[in-house]
Parts: sequence; structure tokens; C-alpha cells
Amino acid sequence: MTLVLTDPGLLETRCLVDGVFVGEAVDAVENPATGALIARVPRFGAAQATQAVDAAAKAFKPWAAKLAKERSIILRRWFDLIIANREDLALILTAEQGKPLAEARGEIDYAASYVEFYAEEAKRINGETIPSHRPDARIIVTRQPVGVVAAITPWNFPAGMITRKLAPALAAGCTAVVKPAPETPLSALALAVLAQRAGIPAGVFNVITGDAPAIGGVLTSHPAVRVVGFTGSTEVGKLLMRQSAGTVKKVALELGGNAPFIVFDDADLDAAVEGAMISKFRNMGQTCVCANRLYVQGGVYDAFVAKLAQKVAGLVVGDGATANVTQGPLITAEAVDKVERHLADATAKGARVVVGGKRHALGRTFFEPTVVSGVTRDMAVAREEIFGPVAPVFRFETEAEVIAAANDTEFGLAAYFYSRDVGRIFRVAEGLEYGMVGINSGLLSSELAPFGGIKESGNSREGSHHGIAEFVDIKYLLVGGL
Ligand code: ADP
Repeated sequence: MTLVLTDPGLLETRCLVDGVFVGEAVDAVENPATGALIARVPRFGAAQATQAVDAAAKAFKPWAAKLAKERSIILRRWFDLIIANREDLALILTAEQGKPLAEARGEIDYAASYVEFYAEEAKRINGETIPSHRPDARIIVTRQPVGVVAAITPWNFPAGMITRKLAPALAAGCTAVVKPAPETPLSALALAVLAQRAGIPAGVFNVITGDAPAIGGVLTSHPAVRVVGFTGSTEVGKLLMRQSAGTVKKVALELGGNAPFIVFDDADLDAAVEGAMISKFRNMGQTCVCANRLYVQGGVYDAFVAKLAQKVAGLVVGDGATANVTQGPLITAEAVDKVERHLADATAKGARVVVGGKRHALGRTFFEPTVVSGVTRDMAVAREEIFGPVAPVFRFETEAEVIAAANDTEFGLAAYFYSRDVGRIFRVAEGLEYGMVGINSGLLSSELAPFGGIKESGNSREGSHHGIAEFVDIKYLLVGGL
């Protein structure tokens, strides 16, 4: 099926470097639901990455010198254009990523919300004055844009992960080079088309596709790049951090998670099941904040598993572009293999498949939404990110036991728990070693709040006024001789 857009100009297949769309069609972008070729994009390497960084470096001073209000107006125009083209952007997103159209529309709104928020925030990047240590001097602190920002993004949120980094960077006065995931470059390029139409000047926003290690090598070593923003696997995040050490760049990492989702005996069970569905099965389980380990207290364990299994059995698997589908394909055949491996390991060690458990009849990249009970800590699903539609349910008895189990991981991104006891809510929220905790909610993310992890899940925050911090340098001015 070809992609029919209201504005075919949004299906851009070339890279954006210094305000010009360039490059030959080489690398295939396929629809994960059908395997059909959607487009081909350039395979750029170190030379083009260097050109893009040089362009961003050249564009930096004039962009930073604009009034905050001027940048704000341009970003607001970009927001308006994203919203005006929401349907086309959602169609592109579903075609290359697989998520159901309703979710894709939600992601476009989510992506746009960061542009709207930081268009506003651009005007509030204030400094401060501090009472001085000397009578003849005053202390002033300013916040200035850091310079060129590199953004390397994953395929699970092809639009959202870009605006979450780009909007605050551009608002602060930085310029950027984006390297989207090879699976999903078309959403990034469509956003770039709209950025240009909004009046973002040449060189301020560059997008390059191609050889990830070669491009990453330049982005982490070029002296003009001051921040490397990355969302993706912990392994690649650590590599980029090491590579960035040579030129002492700031690295802003959003890495993997292993989210616990805890249901206490006193929880509103239906609300907990609803929250688990959203947290676990959204985007086919392919988000870094997806519930990875469901811990349910003994008193409600059987009832929770039964209710969850019933809901999961009602999910509709298929091509995300088809009406009523709630579960699209996984991103690649390898992703399906990994889910299968996880399940085989769990069942071999004594877990029981309650619903689902195998490849879907549609074949290819489709997998049945699955619930497994009787899961224990010796199984791979307890330690590794599943990134697929499998809900493993562990049983626990005491609050102390479950907090210890939840924290027994090198990750620390999102955690969730359901309880109606106010004392427990504060004890557990404070005891969980995570950057974000959803309490009686399976969904956390908003442009208004700081998203990010601790431990090996990351070191930065995206969203809210905190999201500006990565993109500004603090400068201390001592004004003496007064
Ligand atoms: P995932 O497993 O979700 O694909 P990755 O961490 O492999 O996560 O990919 C996230 C992003 O990092 C993608 O844009 C990918 O192309 C990029 N990437 C992968 N390896 C490297 C590398 N060596 N240098 C720079 N970017 C990389």
C-alpha cells in the first residue's frame, strides 16, 4: 500500500544539511507490518556528518543572538504546522514504526506539546543575582546556549524523541544535528520539512541518516559539538559517553529501563489492571517506561492475573493502519525472536502462560499479547528489558520485600505502584530508586514534567523547565570596582 498523504511534500527522503535537502536514495525504510518498501534514504557517513556539524556551528551565533521572543515565535509556528499536518505525520509514523494510527496521532500531539512548551519557555531562561562576598562587587549569573547539540534518537517514538531534545535546544539558542534511527527516519525528515517552513534558519536544524557508528564518531568527537543527547540502548549510551570524554562534552542520556509495576492488596484492582494495560501494552510494549515486571501481592494475585488476562485477550492485533487495531507489529523480526527467547526461558523455569504465548497467526513481526504467571527472579525477564507484549507477573507478600525486589536492577527509569494507603504511598514512593514513579497511574509522560532516569537508565531530564538545563552553560560574572 502506498502512503497517500494530503501533502506529499512531507514524505521527504533526503537529509537536511545547512538548509538544503540532499543525498541519494540508498537505505530502505520498510513498513514493519507488511515488509513493504516505503522509501529509501541517504547513507551518510563521517564526511557528511562533519559538514552538518560545521553548518550547525556556523548557524549558532546568529541563532543565539536572536531575541528569545523571535526564537519563540518561530518555534510556535513549527508547533502550529505540526498540529495542522497531524494526520499526515501520523500516517508516516504508523507506516514506518507500526503503532496503531490512534497512538501515532497521540505521539504527534505529544511531540508537538514539547515544541509548544519550549516556545513559551524560550522567554524564561532567566539569570540571577547573588548577594556578593565583596562590598565593591556584584555577582551576576547568566545562562547561555551551549552551542551545537547532537541528537541521536530511537525508533520507538520517531517524532516525540526528536522534539523532546530539539525544542529545548533550539529555544535556548543552540543549533542541532539529528541522527534518527534507521528504521524510522521519515518522521524526522517530515518534522524537518515543517521546521523549514516555520522559518527555522539554514543550519539550525540538520538531519542526517546513514552509518550510525561513523556519524556517531563525528558527533562525539567534533569539537564544536557541546552536548550529545541520546535516547536508546544502555550499551550504545555507554559507548557514546566514552567517546565524548575526549572532548569533554555534556552527555544527556535516556537509556533502558526495567520498570516494576507493583499492585498492593489495598489497590483499586480495576484501576491497576487498566494502568497495567496502558503501561505494558502501549506501543506493543516497546517503550523504555513499559512495565517490565508486574509484582502483585498475594491477596489479590489470582484476581489480578485473571482480570489482566481477560483484558489482554480482547486486544486486536494487526496492521496499525487498519481501524480498530490496538496492537501493531514489533519493529523487526529480531524483536520477535527476542520475545520468544524470553518466553521460552520463563516457561522452562516454571512460569505459566495464561494467555497468548506465541507468534501471531498474522506471522512476520506479529506476536500475541501475552500474560505469564508464576514468574521468579531467576528468569531473564526479571533482569532484561522485554520490549515486547509480554506481561510477567511475580507474586510478593510484604512491602519491604517488594521494594527490595523492585530496586534489584541496574536500571532506574520508571516505576509504578497501586495503593490507597496514604502512608504506604509515601513510604514506597520514597523507597523506589527510580527517576519517575507513577502512583495509581500507568502513564507518566508529559511536556510539563521532568522525564528521566537514574542509575544506568540515564543522567538527564527532558520536559518542564528542567529540560532547558542541558542546553545552557551557567556563566558567573563578577562585576568589581563599584
Ligand atoms: P535500539 O536497540 O532501540 O535500536 P540503539 O541504542 O541500538 O537502540 O539505537 C538507538 C539509536 O542509536 C539509533 O539511532 C541508532 O542508529 C543509534 N546508534 C546505534 N549504534 C550507534 C553508534 N555506535 N554510534 C552512534 N549511534 C548509534
